[in-house]
Amino acid sequence: MSCDFIALAAPGVQKLSPYQPGKPIEELERELGISDIIKLASNENPLGCSPRVLTAIESGMSELALYPDGNGFVLKKALSDFYKRPLEEITLGNGSNDILELTARAFLKPGDEAVFSQHSFAVYPLVVQAVGATGISVPAVEYGHDLVAMAAAITEKTRVVFIANPNNPTGTWVEEGELDAFLMAVPENVIVVLDEAYGEYVQPGELPDGLDFLGRYANVIVSRTFSKAYGLAALRIGYAFAHPDITNVLNRVRQPFNVNALALRAAVAALGDQEFVKRSRDLNAAGMQFITEGVHALGLGVIPSKGNFLSINLGREGLPVYEALLRQGVIVRPVANYGMPHFLRVTIGSQAENERFLAALKTVLKAVA
Ligand SMILES: *Cc1c(COP(=O)(O)O)cnc(C)c1O
Repeated sequence: MSCDFIALAAPGVQKLSPYQPGKPIEELERELGISDIIKLASNENPLGCSPRVLTAIESGMSELALYPDGNGFVLKKALSDFYKRPLEEITLGNGSNDILELTARAFLKPGDEAVFSQHSFAVYPLVVQAVGATGISVPAVEYGHDLVAMAAAITEKTRVVFIANPNNPTGTWVEEGELDAFLMAVPENVIVVLDEAYGEYVQPGELPDGLDFLGRYANVIVSRTFSKAYGLAALRIGYAFAHPDITNVLNRVRQPFNVNALALRAAVAALGDQEFVKRSRDLNAAGMQFITEGVHALGLGVIPSKGNFLSINLGREGLPVYEALLRQGVIVRPVANYGMPHFLRVTIGSQAENERFLAALKTVLKAVA
């Protein structure tokens, strides 16, 4: 080969290692020749999605030849009504991952810095590096964001800060007071992304609501998704609320049709079924308690979590346990790439899935002991 195409790539891209998704069920089926596999690896909703979504998608099937509404007006209007915020504050994304990427592309260039926490969402360093900017990972405290240290890490080069609340993969959270103090300390020309991908799983009033900060701090982007509690991960749709000028900037780098037509319809229907969201939240709370107790009974610790997942401290290398669980037909998530080699992250599933996971874990721990 005469040409080194890797060397041709933009400097940030050369050093990128792609996001590692949870192992798909079909892949494990092929590899091990087993069936009846459960996947608790990608924080998907065990209840699926609202039945209203299916009706909404069916009604869009006759229009597959048409481009979607590039402005996503109907969904933006629904979000605007639901949250009682102006339409001009909304950006729609191809998943909220898209929102994170738009933010990086719009506000970061080589030489700029973006601050995030150790053990935080893997996509932050990826989107930062891809545009040639520098990611600054701030050491965590007890696996959670150290907002005081993060504020101290802001320099004249800092343009963006990412905060996941609750955080993935740790499930840790930041409280209203510390977040407010942080935002007060951050210069106005630094954009703060509050990533609330798991916000719907938090009991109402339990954690700060990013939208409450929008009025007071113009430099905040609140990012949310339909992938998690709404159960629409396959369709790829998320959204952000931010100052209209920030929203204007994000929309300049957005693909004209970044959200597909079925996703737009599905999201409107999903937003309209808050009963489904509540059922998902309640099932998650019960499952969280069930798995936590089960894990404690096996003599293991967990990081307290407000997401729909739990990081379990195995007190030993996690990878062999992960692989042994695969052979039991249970897919969880290794988090060594998050600097947590002794942990595995498990998504809270249905009661049957949670029981199956605990039984498999018990079997596996006995075998690898
Ligand atoms: C899952 C997740 C997202 C985004 O998922 P999308 O499917 O792209 O909306 C964003 N942030 C965190 C912390 C997540 O865990």
